[in-house]
Amino acid sequence: MKRDKKAVFFDRDGTLIEDRHYLKDPDGVTLLAGAAECVRALREAGFLIVVVSNQSGVARGMMTEDDVRRVNERFCALMREAGAPVDGMYYCPHFPGGSVPAYAADCACRKPKTVMAEAAARDLGIDLCASYAVGDKAADMLFGANAGMKAGFLVLTGYGTDERGKIAGLPFAEEAASLAEVAEKIAEREARRG
Ligand SMILES: [Mg+2]
Ligand SMILES: [Zn+2]
Repeated sequence: MKRDKKAVFFDRDGTLIEDRHYLKDPDGVTLLAGAAECVRALREAGFLIVVVSNQSGVARGMMTEDDVRRVNERFCALMREAGAPVDGMYYCPHFPGGSVPAYAADCACRKPKTVMAEAAARDLGIDLCASYAVGDKAADMLFGANAGMKAGFLVLTGYGTDERGKIAGLPFAEEAASLAEVAEKIAEREARRG
């Protein structure tokens, strides 16, 4: 597949849905303010929407991969119902210090490593150099930078206000007060062919 599509890579917890810490109950999925509107605007601007999520709760023995999939399905259904479907959804179940041997690994997919971006690029035909990263942690920004994306936006929901100090020396990343501002900032950059 030709890799000529542009995408926005979103973190899930604390960015598009409320961060409930190791969420395993699909009924606990709550879209954050502006999530559907932001995704709709970006889709209209020609971006694919990819969600990439570290789910170390699997390695920590707090949930199973089936739990993660059920939560992701609920999230995707809510987004679809809001007219903001997601094109790709990826998660990493690993964590080096985990208690479940099968997942207690220093893997290549946990953000800020880039395997989830590369998988999406391959599956969906994405040009990572034409893409953006959005999240509430410095790891989400480093993930985008490591994958060669154009820029990253740190939202101040979730862990955002705690993590903002960590992106101070990272020219790749910029703060965004809201998801509405993320959509605006991306539109501005695209207009000046950033
Ligand atoms: Mg997060
Ligand atoms: Zn992993």
